Amino acid sequence: MALAVGLDQRAVHQCSRAAIQSQVSSYGRPNPPWEPPKFGIAASKDEEPVIPRISIFAGLRDESKEPRENQDEGVQLPSVAECAVHLQLLESFHVLREKVLKSNALDRTFSIWPKIPRRSAAEYRRNPRRAAALDPTFQARRQKKWHIFVDLAVARFASWWGEMDNILRLLDAGEIPPLDVLMVWHSLLLNPRMYTALCEESGYQGMSSLRFPWKAVHDAISTKDSSFVLTESATATYSKQTGLGPDLLGYLANFEQFAPAVTKVLSKWANTELRKADIDQALQASPDMAPDQVCLLEHCVIAIDQQPGPTSGLRNAVLRQVNFVEKMGEQVWLRSPALSGTLNRAISRYGQFLVLFKKYPSTLLVPTLDIDLAWHTHLCSPQQYRLATSHTAGRFIDHDDTIDKDALEGGLDKTKDLFRIRFGEEYLRCLCWDCEALRSALEENPVRQGCREVDYEAISETVSLQVAYHRAVEIARRKQEPLPVHAV
Ligand SMILES: [Zn+2]
Repeated sequence: MALAVGLDQRAVHQCSRAAIQSQVSSYGRPNPPWEPPKFGIAASKDEEPVIPRISIFAGLRDESKEPRENQDEGVQLPSVAECAVHLQLLESFHVLREKVLKSNALDRTFSIWPKIPRRSAAEYRRNPRRAAALDPTFQARRQKKWHIFVDLAVARFASWWGEMDNILRLLDAGEIPPLDVLMVWHSLLLNPRMYTALCEESGYQGMSSLRFPWKAVHDAISTKDSSFVLTESATATYSKQTGLGPDLLGYLANFEQFAPAVTKVLSKWANTELRKADIDQALQASPDMAPDQVCLLEHCVIAIDQQPGPTSGLRNAVLRQVNFVEKMGEQVWLRSPALSGTLNRAISRYGQFLVLFKKYPSTLLVPTLDIDLAWHTHLCSPQQYRLATSHTAGRFIDHDDTIDKDALEGGLDKTKDLFRIRFGEEYLRCLCWDCEALRSALEENPVRQGCREVDYEAISETVSLQVAYHRAVEIARRKQEPLPVHAV
């Protein structure tokens, strides 16, 4: 099986290369040797395909309907549905970061302007984009917005966590926090030692036995564009708890609302260095400041406070996660024709990966991207993770995302060898849509039951059509055009 997939994998890539090559080289010539298949266009929204299929999320547990005390605490790996929601959540984080970085309104909020010669000022007013190109430092300085956004998100997480007496009850009722707070909580969960230390320090042991609210997260995310919207009750609860609305980006981007003293603080933060004294000064200078802006400044104080504590590395943990989010975004598994197969295989390979920890306790074992997704999904439910790793790996397995590149490369080489020795399967494999769809098709084929009559040509034709169709849908989705339809 592995060999068959290996050979077909090479063939797929050769075929893909040939197809792309022929498209490029035949541009403008008659009778191109290869043409991508053409699909009809949906006449209405109702006709448009839903990708990923709703059925993939069918197994999600509704925490509001299953009280915690009744939950089965046996050994469990993450489910396909949970991994699929995790992909949705990562895509939402990606979309959020893109919006922050690209927002011109946020540039104004933080007074991040292109530095241009005085004589070009008039030109800047006429053509801001051209003026921005005159300043080679402008794009780099705009990155600071994301750092400030993360700092504020960490502060908002601290306010949310401070209301912990209510949080367990709220989470049980499906009331999750806003996306930025969720992003911080998610990064904290991926650093289990930091998370446990915080739970212990705050005395919130319930948070370490919590199952991540995947169902509520899924309900908040739009399948179409991965935007994130809280329910009305969750919005009201969060606003009441913390004094700020759930949409941090929308709030900050509304630059015209801020008092001059607040604008001065935000500008200082983005362009020089912000100190607590600056914020105190702003609060004193504007005694009539609107309550939400006072609340924002209070969050600024928490954000720049560098006191050592269990979460002092949290900001960097959130920033480090961007890497993983981007890698997942490049794979686009969420919209691939093989989503279910990819996730099923990822979970099963993750189970094998855990076994390696038991067999080789002193080796640095490094996950592949698919295994890492299952691992991260598992970490989001700390108790489930603790039980399963103790059972399968024989001990608690820490997740450390600060290991340096050289050590990771060496560890990956070693893991590849050990995986092959232990399970007789390839560890590193191509996880692109074509290869994954082919793998799924071969798994569903009777070849597994020992039947030798396999029509590889028919399989490959079906797979390539499936992939071409999903690719066409994804292109149309990104262009915000009506989606193609196809009877597969
Ligand atoms: Zn491939």
